[in-house]
Amino acid sequence: MSGAPDIRIPAEILPADGRFGCGPSKVRPEAVAALAAVAPDYLGTSHRQPRVKDVVAEVRRSLHELFGLPEGWEVLLGNGGATFFWDAASVGLIERRSQHLSFGEFSSKFAKAAAAAPHLDDPVVITAEPGSHPVPAPDASVDAYCLTHNETSTGVAMPLVRPDADGLVLVDATSAAGGVRWDPRQVDVYYFSPQKCFAADGGLWLACCSPAAIERIERLADADRWIPDSLSLPTALDNSRKDQTYNTPALATLYLLLEQLRWMLGNGGMAFAAGRSDESSTILYQWAERTPYTTPYVADPAMRSPVVGTVDFDDAIDATVVAKALRANGVLDTEAYRKLGRNQLRIGMFPAIDPADVEALTASIEYVVAALA
Ligand SMILES: *Cc1c(COP(=O)(O)O)cnc(C)c1O
Repeated sequence: MSGAPDIRIPAEILPADGRFGCGPSKVRPEAVAALAAVAPDYLGTSHRQPRVKDVVAEVRRSLHELFGLPEGWEVLLGNGGATFFWDAASVGLIERRSQHLSFGEFSSKFAKAAAAAPHLDDPVVITAEPGSHPVPAPDASVDAYCLTHNETSTGVAMPLVRPDADGLVLVDATSAAGGVRWDPRQVDVYYFSPQKCFAADGGLWLACCSPAAIERIERLADADRWIPDSLSLPTALDNSRKDQTYNTPALATLYLLLEQLRWMLGNGGMAFAAGRSDESSTILYQWAERTPYTTPYVADPAMRSPVVGTVDFDDAIDATVVAKALRANGVLDTEAYRKLGRNQLRIGMFPAIDPADVEALTASIEYVVAALA
């Protein structure tokens, strides 16, 4: 591989699975095998027939169970991923004005989408230095508070707490959902794509919606604004209630998502799934603290993400060279988020990733750094 130093990490040091990316992220081999096993009567069959609709129904039910969603909540889904959902929310959930907590690449993007919407007032954007998070500020002019459970570009997670105000709480949980605990009473819409903690592929969005959010979706259907059908949340709601999507979904993605939900629920639900990420992140941050040439990028331990770890390296060591050497040894996607511009590695620690592999990754990094010296 170009530019990679010629370092061969011994097999007994390497992680069993080398995938540490933050999305798409490790898909469990067992889930791929399960998909292959059902393929003959599932892949390449109609998404309007019970075989596929039953999968969608079990996905929706399983998310209810995993998150302990209260009575009246509904799980919506459609094509396009979390990025698409920002646009759908800008036409179908924000009534006049939103407030955004902006603390990295992903959280800033929803703020930009809302600012560009001609039918909305200018959003209130509260920023914080990268590596930390702001908190929402109650504001009578705001009808939607837009939070990000885990800012994937920086490795900062924030607790979800409803501001003492009216207005819906909309949470981008793309990299947190399934790996970080949350309380539905603090939230109205918890939306995500399935290629991170849910170890599937990209292209879908899913949104857990409170009764207040459903009411807003239904009311804005009659708002005086143009809503294309593909962006319409009432259309998504209507289809989701029938366990289908408005247009054709990726059936493989749905099945991988279902397999990950079965795995999580079969092993104890959020306590198990979040517990795996807690274990992995404890290993990574303790290692980064005690190793002389590394420091956790997020200074406040309370803000450090259990699912996306960011580790700064001393100037004497070029983290991009370390990432290249790891890649040449099959340890993939440890590069920092490019726009953050730091001498850093970023490590996915989603529930599918074995904590023992995170331990092995730290040993592999030590091996590479020693070989470079
Ligand atoms: C990955 C990610 C997104 C983008 O998801 P897509 O499926 O590519 O649209 C949005 N927000 C967060 C927090 C993410 O981690």
